[in-house]
Amino acid sequence: MTDQHPVGSRLDPWIESYAARTAGMKVSEIRALFAVASRPEVVSLAGGMPNIGALPMELVGDTVQRLLLDQGLTALQYSSGQGDERLRDQLLEVMALEGLDAHPDDIVMTTGSQQALDLVARVFLDPRDVVIAESPSYVGALGVFAAYEADVVHVPCDADGLVPEALEEHITRLLAEGRRIKFLYTVPTFQNPAGTALFDDRRPRVLEICRRHGILVVEDNPYGLLGFEGRTYPALKSMDADGVIYLGTFSKIFAAGLRVGWAVAPHAVREKLVLANEAAILCPSAFTQAVASRYLSEIDWQAQTASYRALYQERRDAMADALRSLLPQARWNLPRGGLFFWIELPEGLDTKAMLPLAVKELVAYAPGTGFYADGTGRRNARLNFSYPTSERIHEGVRRFATVVEREQEL
Ligand code: PMP
Repeated sequence: MTDQHPVGSRLDPWIESYAARTAGMKVSEIRALFAVASRPEVVSLAGGMPNIGALPMELVGDTVQRLLLDQGLTALQYSSGQGDERLRDQLLEVMALEGLDAHPDDIVMTTGSQQALDLVARVFLDPRDVVIAESPSYVGALGVFAAYEADVVHVPCDADGLVPEALEEHITRLLAEGRRIKFLYTVPTFQNPAGTALFDDRRPRVLEICRRHGILVVEDNPYGLLGFEGRTYPALKSMDADGVIYLGTFSKIFAAGLRVGWAVAPHAVREKLVLANEAAILCPSAFTQAVASRYLSEIDWQAQTASYRALYQERRDAMADALRSLLPQARWNLPRGGLFFWIELPEGLDTKAMLPLAVKELVAYAPGTGFYADGTGRRNARLNFSYPTSERIHEGVRRFATVVEREQEL
């Protein structure tokens, strides 16, 4: 027996065996940061964690305990690949808040909306297919599309979200080049990372453009109920039931660790998603779905969502104050909802190169390049305000500003 595989290298004997798609699987810059950023002395503005300290934990504990006593035998058993029927019914009440009138038969429950993204990609994407996305776009979605070897093309956005004229232009050019565009991936409401909301009059225009070119829209909506202007936006899916796959999640209105999300698909697509779900995980967790169901029926979840919203708004304001007074070189739009600021630093600065220096100063952030498939975003950074306290936000921005100033002096 030799101690080295004859084909591979000593570091990885299976290097020749991996599927081609693994080449697109890159270590997330943000994940690599987590280990460092979780040290208590580091102010982490890097992650995207909701503030579950705001949950009424005792109440949730009682609810879970009663759930196990009343329906443990079903909650801890295998269940339907499409997801719990009662919960799918209850979700209508959640989605109605954004004008969505769905049918429970068209809902597929998933392990967080991240898994719904994976199912959509699995069902639609062949290598070299094009996904159109906002500029910048959610890093976790880019990871999924890369894993399925799709090409992401970013379309310019401004303070009001996707620019419809730019979308039209990009689609026309790509089609003229003979590319196969599979869908538009968008986070229209309180986008991650940009914090923007697609303006009301742009919503029908974006849908009209996609419909005219026969392009499906994937609407990812984890933050729709976390708006700071006291309003919600109508879901794209509410304006075009057949042309949109809508993704929802409990991660931001209840708890991210629950891993309960869902997709609402056009009827024809629904069956494919269920089959893909069964192949991937047999069925979503009956237990966590039952917890989510009781959360909706037994706890005042709308009041809880309002308290998340109020807390995040306070912290958003703290971050805006800190940025204005301590980092006036940065440009940004005030986030209208969600968890993040997206900032742009002056020409010549490189947030990825600066990150190790920032960590030395005990502050971490997410460098902008992670939010583009094409390597742009060097001057940008995403800063999270949902998790750190207002004091920590102020201190984190102060530390970040010292690194920026030092770099500018060089
Ligand atoms: N989409 C977007 C835009 C997100 O920001 C996130 C979480 N950060 C997800 C999807 C995944 O959320 P989850 O899997 O927790 O539902």
